[in-house]
Amino acid sequence: MNGVLAVLEYRGESRGGWNRMSWEALAAGQELARNLGEPLWASAAGNDISEAGPDLAAKPISGAHLVTHKLLQAYTPDGYVAAFEQLVRKLDPRFVVFPHTYQVRDFAPRLAARFGQTLIADVVAIRFEAGSPVFVRQLLQGRLNADYAHSGAGACFVSVQAGAFRADGLSETACISGTAPVPVEEFVPRLDESQIRSRPGERFREAAHTVDLSAANVIVSVGRGIKEQVNLPIVEELAHALGAELAAARPICDNGWLPMERQVGSSGQTVSPKVYIAVGISGAIQHLVGMKGSKAVIAINKDENAPIFEVADYGVVGDLFEVTPALTAAVRKTKGA
Ligand SMILES: Cc1cc2nc3c(=O)[nH]c(=O)nc-3n(C[C@H](O)[C@H](O)[C@H](O)COP(=O)(O)OP(=O)(O)OC[C@H]3O[C@@H](n4cnc5c(N)ncnc54)[C@H](O)[C@@H]3O)c2cc1C
Repeated sequence: MNGVLAVLEYRGESRGGWNRMSWEALAAGQELARNLGEPLWASAAGNDISEAGPDLAAKPISGAHLVTHKLLQAYTPDGYVAAFEQLVRKLDPRFVVFPHTYQVRDFAPRLAARFGQTLIADVVAIRFEAGSPVFVRQLLQGRLNADYAHSGAGACFVSVQAGAFRADGLSETACISGTAPVPVEEFVPRLDESQIRSRPGERFREAAHTVDLSAANVIVSVGRGIKEQVNLPIVEELAHALGAELAAARPICDNGWLPMERQVGSSGQTVSPKVYIAVGISGAIQHLVGMKGSKAVIAINKDENAPIFEVADYGVVGDLFEVTPALTAAVRKTKGA
């Protein structure tokens, strides 16, 4: 039993390619592998996903496995559990790390159960005690942190929260590796149709008008400073001009002004976009835990002492009803729209 296997999410080039959280899981895997002094493998599943190979070959890992089979063309929990069970048995890793995506929530607990294990889900940090990893999870909507350590024999299965590990924190230096290029192998599991009991339907949140905040590169998020629902077009226009997703602090969703699925925070989604623009949001801790993984935070707030400015890379102290339309106009001008 040796090494760390990161199970990544690849949807095929025509359907969005890699789930961005994959690279965060790889960063978490790298943190584990480095501290343990063991190899790090990456893997992804699909049917004929050879185009994903070069992406993996460019990563600082020991090797990669493309789990390929025609029955993996579309995601099914039965197919993924059966396929990854075979890969895990072959590689016999000490740790299996996933991004905490919807898909992973669906199949990873069952995969772990095949090995007599539970999934340590939605991990926000890893620390090491006497050389062994301790996984940190949040409880009670972020009010408590709990430590989990793996005990006993068998692989340890862990999924990591969006934004908890930085994809750009992936070190360029390989863990324990051979020489470049990184070997990428095809792994063909034994699967037959009788094993796949479910028939895939439409992909959840695949359409452009639905919400997958965790995959958004730019988010414009609105808080109570907007005052009334009729004012929302001010932020919607900024989001539209930037090609951004619209999100909100909890009071906006509690009021029913935006759907709950757009809420960011400890009781909403956790996001890690390249740019997070907080408009009229105070920066309560329950909101911050959901967006602290953002690469750049821009805050617009009329109160210079608002806590959001403590995490902001750029801040505008001003009235959002003046600043936001001006920003939208500037973006449109830059884009020539
Ligand atoms: C168990 C629990 C879970 C929670 N989960 C979440 C969660 O998931 N997500 C979440 O967001 N919250 C959550 N909350 C609520 C959280 O504590 C805060 O109440 C909430 O985040 C505040 O939202 P807000 O920043 O929009 O509103 P406020 O705190 O009211 O802030 C409004 C801000 O707008 C500014 N403002 C007002 N007018 C203007 C103007 N004209 N121009 C510019 N700025 C202006 C004000 O200065 C102020 O800073 C949770 C609370 C609890 C107890």
